[in-house]
Amino acid sequence: AAARLYDKTVLITGASSGIGRATALEFADVTQGKIKLILTARRLERLNSFKSQLSSQYPDIKIHTEFLDVSKINTIREFFSHIPEEFKDIDVLVNNAGLALGKEQVGEMKQEDIDTVFNTNVMGNIEVVQNIVPFFKRKNSGDIVQLGSVAGREPYVGGSVYCASKFAIRAFNTSLRQELMNTKIRVIEVQPGAVDTEFSTVRFKGDKKQADATYVAEPLYAEDIADTIVYAVSRRQNVVIAESLIFPNNQA
Ligand code: NDP
Repeated sequence: AAARLYDKTVLITGASSGIGRATALEFADVTQGKIKLILTARRLERLNSFKSQLSSQYPDIKIHTEFLDVSKINTIREFFSHIPEEFKDIDVLVNNAGLALGKEQVGEMKQEDIDTVFNTNVMGNIEVVQNIVPFFKRKNSGDIVQLGSVAGREPYVGGSVYCASKFAIRAFNTSLRQELMNTKIRVIEVQPGAVDTEFSTVRFKGDKKQADATYVAEPLYAEDIADTIVYAVSRRQNVVIAESLIFPNNQA
C-alpha cells in the first residue's frame, strides 16, 4: 500500500508539533522519503529544523516549509497562490491545525478565545478546503483529511466552544463528502480521543499542572493518529475511511 503514496504531494497544516508533525514523519517513513511534503504552521523555525532532520534521514525527500496562520482567513488564498511550482500538484491535504482554549463554563469565556478557536478550527479549516476543492475537482482526485475529535461526537462540560467547533467541522465534512460523491475525491475524518501532544498545554496556556490533569492514565500518542491517517490515505481509491473514532484503551 505504501507504493500508492510514492511521489505524492502532501500538504499538512499545523505540522510544527503533535499529530501534524507525526503525520509528516509517518508519510516519510512509509515511503522511505519518496514523497513531497508542504509543512505549514506559525512556528516556522520548528518546521525548518524538522525539515533538516527529515532531509538528513531521507535524502530523496522534498520538503517545502511555510508560515501559515489559518486563523487569518484572508491570507490563505495568498498562501495557495505562492506554492512553488514543484509542490503545486497537491494530492493530499491533512487539515490538522487546531486548538482548544480554556475550560470555562459558558458566561465566563473570553470572547477573544472563542474567536481564536472558531477562526482556527472552523473558519480557517473551511477556507483551506475551499482553496483546494476546485483544484481537486479539476484533476478528479485528492484526499481531504480532516481532524475531528471525540468532542465532535460527545460534548462535555467545560468544552462547549471546542465541542461546537468540532461538531461544526464534522457536519461540514459529511456535507462535503456527499457533495463530492461520484468523484475520486475522498473526505476522511479522523476523530481522536485524548492524545499526548502540546494540545493540553496550549489549552491551559502553559499551566502544566492543569494540562497533565486532563490526561487519562495512558493517552494515545501522536504516532497512533498519524498511523491511522496514512493507513486511510493509502487505501485503494474505491475505499473511503469516512470516519475513524480512535480512543486510548482506557477512555470511553
Ligand atoms: P498540538 O498543539 O501539538 O498541535 C497543534 C498544531 O496546530 C501545531 O502545529 C500548531 O502550530 C498548529 N496551529 C495552532 N493554531 C494554528 C493557527 N492559527 N494556524 C496554523 N497552525 C496552527 O496539538 P495536536 O497535535 O493534538 O492537535 C492537532 C489536531 O488534533 C487539532 O485539530 C486538535 O483539535 C485535534 N485533536 C487533538 C486531540 C488531543 O487530545 N491532542 C484530540 C482530538 C482532536 P503553531 O503553533 O506553530 O502554529
